Order: sequence, then structure tokens, then C-alpha cells
Amino acid sequence: MKYTVYSLFPQLLKPWTEEALLGRAVREGHISFDLRDLRDHASGKHRNVDDTPYGGGAGMVIRVDIAAKALDEVLASEPPPDEIILLSPAGEPLSQALVEELAKKKHLCLLAGRYEGFDARVESLVTREISIGDYVLMGGEIAVLTIIEATARLLPGVLGDVDSHLQDSFSTGLLDYPEYTRPAEFRGLGIPEVLSSGHHANIAHWRRQQALKRTFERRPDLLKNAKLSDEDRAFLATLDSQAETKQREK
Ligand code: SAM
Repeated sequence: MKYTVYSLFPQLLKPWTEEALLGRAVREGHISFDLRDLRDHASGKHRNVDDTPYGGGAGMVIRVDIAAKALDEVLASEPPPDEIILLSPAGEPLSQALVEELAKKKHLCLLAGRYEGFDARVESLVTREISIGDYVLMGGEIAVLTIIEATARLLPGVLGDVDSHLQDSFSTGLLDYPEYTRPAEFRGLGIPEVLSSGHHANIAHWRRQQALKRTFERRPDLLKNAKLSDEDRAFLATLDSQAETKQREK
């Protein structure tokens, strides 16, 4: 996977791509980054990329002609991007399903805004607009890194253990089950007995139920789209009636 990023602060992104798993993935050739400065496409002494909004109002808007020059450049590169993604609070919400779709591409181009964002005509130059959540950041760099982190970990060779993402929250449609490690005793808190039993089937069964319980308690909205067996449904029905009883006792 190749990631081309356009930002007004590419130097903010660089260290992130050089360390930890992403840095290793680059060194091993699984992914590559091309971090570009939008300002390289500005002209004039001050290399301005923005201007005041038509109609008045606060803040500055990034010019569409500057973005177009940058995108013409990346479209002429080899391989051209499969997707040109504008990061914006008004975009499609990022989800694990969307991450999985993006991780199948060969080249993603990511466009990070600043100030009041881009001139709305930039929407005609991109293939998608993505939001990382219902809040507003000062700039798109963290949003770009979110997409990079979430997609890169799905690519072969990037995580040490090839299967380790398969049980993660959302990959199964559920939240992940709780994990424990040493020490076995911490300030009076122990670990569930089954985890030190060495009985793999019981451990798998307990983990599935914990994932269902956590999702039921914290994100019941996810259960609508999760793949559930008859046994899962029966377990959820027990949780439901326990919750109802508790509610009645209150
Ligand atoms: N005026 C814009 C609005 O209210 O929708 C906010 C602009 S924001 C201050 C500047 C840039 O940060 C945006 O152009 C976008 O690239 C990025 N950004 C901020 N919040 C974001 C979010 N939730 N998801 C994706 N990008 C975001």
C-alpha cells in the first residue's frame, strides 16, 4: 500500500511514519509514504494557500486551485491513487467496515485541511470524504493518521501475528473480550479462573460470552449487525432478562 498525503504540516506526520509498527512496515517494504506539502503548489512570495470566505465570516478557506494542482500531480504519478480522500467532519463516518474496504486498495491519497477547511468545490476532485467522528479537530493530520493506522494494521506483514486483528473490537462485529496478563493478583483484583485452566475450548467459550456481554452492556447498537449463532442469541436473551429483573428491582 502506498499512502500519499497532502497537508500544510507534513512534518507533523513524518515521525509517526518512522517509528513503531508503521516504521518497521516501511523498512520491510510493506507500505510506503509520500508526505507532501500543499504549500508547494502555492505561488507568490508568501506561498498563500488560503483566502477569505465569499459571503464573509470568520476564518480562512483553502483554495480549490491549490488543491487541484496537488491532485493533478498525484493523478499523474505511478500508480495513480485508487481513492482520493478528503478528511472532513462532514464526511462519511469512519467505521471498521470502511477501513477494511480501504485496506484492499493499493494507493490512497489523503487530503488534510486546516483553518475553515477547503473550498467546497474540492469535493468535485475527490472520490470520498471521510470523518473520524462527530467533533472538530484543528486540522486533518490526526484524521489522516487514523486512517493510516487503521488500514495498515490489516495489511499482510504489518502486524507480527497475522491473525491478531481478527478478534479485535468491530472485526467480529462485537467489542473485544477483556484481556489479562501478569501479575495474577493486583490490589485485590484477580483474573478469571478459566484463563489459567489451560482448557482451550472453555477459554474460547468464555471469551465469546464476554465479548457478547461487553457489547450488550456498552454498545448494544452493534448487535444488530453482528453475526450471531443460536447459542449467542440464547446467551444474549439471558443477559436481557437479567437486565430486566435488575431494572424492576430498582
Ligand atoms: N469548518 C469545518 C467544519 O466545521 O466542518 C472544520 C474545519 S477543521 C477546523 C480543519 C480541518 O480539520 C478540516 O478541513 C479537516 O481536514 C480536519 N478535520 C477536523 N475535524 C475532523 C473530523 N472529525 N474528521 C476528519 N477531518 C477533520
